[in-house]
Amino acid sequence: MSPWLAAARAVGAEIAARHADDVDVRARFPGEALAALKDRKLLGILVPESAGGPGAGIADVVSVCHELGQHCASTAMIYAMHQIQTACIVQHAGQDPWLRTFLKRLAEDQLLLASATSEAGVGGDVRSSICALTERRGRFSLVKQAPVISYGEESDAILVTARRTPQSPASDQVIVVVPRAGVEFQPQETWNTLGMRGTCSKGHRLTVEGEMAQVIPVPYADVSSQTMLPVSHLVWSALWLGIASDALGRARAFVRAEVKTSSGESPPGGGRLAGAAIELQTMKSNLITCLRAYEAAIGSADRLSAISFAVAMNNLKLASSQSVVKIVGEAMLICGLAGYRIDSRFSVGRHLRDAHSAAVMVNNDRIIANNATLALALRDDRELLA
Ligand SMILES: Cc1cc2nc3c(=O)[nH]c(=O)nc-3n(C[C@H](O)[C@H](O)[C@H](O)COP(=O)(O)OP(=O)(O)OC[C@H]3O[C@@H](n4cnc5c(N)ncnc54)[C@H](O)[C@@H]3O)c2cc1C
Repeated sequence: MSPWLAAARAVGAEIAARHADDVDVRARFPGEALAALKDRKLLGILVPESAGGPGAGIADVVSVCHELGQHCASTAMIYAMHQIQTACIVQHAGQDPWLRTFLKRLAEDQLLLASATSEAGVGGDVRSSICALTERRGRFSLVKQAPVISYGEESDAILVTARRTPQSPASDQVIVVVPRAGVEFQPQETWNTLGMRGTCSKGHRLTVEGEMAQVIPVPYADVSSQTMLPVSHLVWSALWLGIASDALGRARAFVRAEVKTSSGESPPGGGRLAGAAIELQTMKSNLITCLRAYEAAIGSADRLSAISFAVAMNNLKLASSQSVVKIVGEAMLICGLAGYRIDSRFSVGRHLRDAHSAAVMVNNDRIIANNATLALALRDDRELLA
């Protein structure tokens, strides 16, 4: 086991799990778990050795997300979203001195990164922006109506997408790294949702200022297709797998308890448990296959930009987001009223509510519509994960 996974297991079991229900009920930031992740230096693991970090790989991040997802899905989602932003800087900073220095600070000070890609007026179409950078003497300013920014007020820096200039078309975007001191948050929307309540994903009007050196020196179109999209779908799927694994673990414990109290008869939930385990295994296999495909493609812009790669990564998100709801639903049926109650050790109520965020976190309908267009350009389905 990697030292990062061991550390995540300790944080998850000893801290995140203890506060998960309170985080959920009060829709509050999981401060204890995030402090513990910072203490154990888990926020900077992707920073390469050349920039002062330990140079972990995406597989390490995936395993941490999976672990945390079993204890507190909000903590896991915050960690996942932070690592998506970190991966974008690591993969696309090049030799840019400002960004390299920022990565060094991230590793040293365990900075927490948030993101503002969604924008009022374009919905979940993150490949379009209304707001734009206005440049003046090497500095920029920007105002963005951001309907959802997870843990924005708790973050140390935020990555914001915008049009390159006020004259640029909606799809000519850049992504800019803004330390907290360069951002003014004006709260607009509260976060009182069904699930993922601890992510505190409130809406804000952002007023941002900084140096042009803070702009990632690659078009956002490339950052998005080569890193943000595949990494998002991998780390989200990992934590959704964690939610599903924990729910099924509760169902297994319920069935075991039933076996002990029955006179040797197999309890009615046993067959359903075996069936749900098939779905969980499929979910895990799909994640591992796509993780290997991403690892094999890193460093090759052509492979990362291939239509077949995008379709496969979208399929991972679509399949995982559906499986997690299905598996948690099965766990609830297996546990019956004990699973439906919120005050029982077999409760899967929080799991079910958190799981439903998966389909709307970039709406599945939007991804299916995108895949429908991309699939027409595929020569052959054999190209997928070839
Ligand atoms: C827990 C959580 C945390 C989040 N954190 C952040 C964050 O930190 N930063 C951030 O920027 N965003 C964040 N988001 C926002 C998220 O990534 C999506 O952008 C957002 O949920 C989309 O909002 P929407 O469903 O209102 O909009 P849309 O995606 O526009 O969907 C609205 C409806 O329109 C339909 N629709 C619209 N256009 C199309 C189309 N072209 N094809 C098919 N259907 C279409 C959809 O199916 C849906 O029914 C978060 C979301 C969640 C759930």
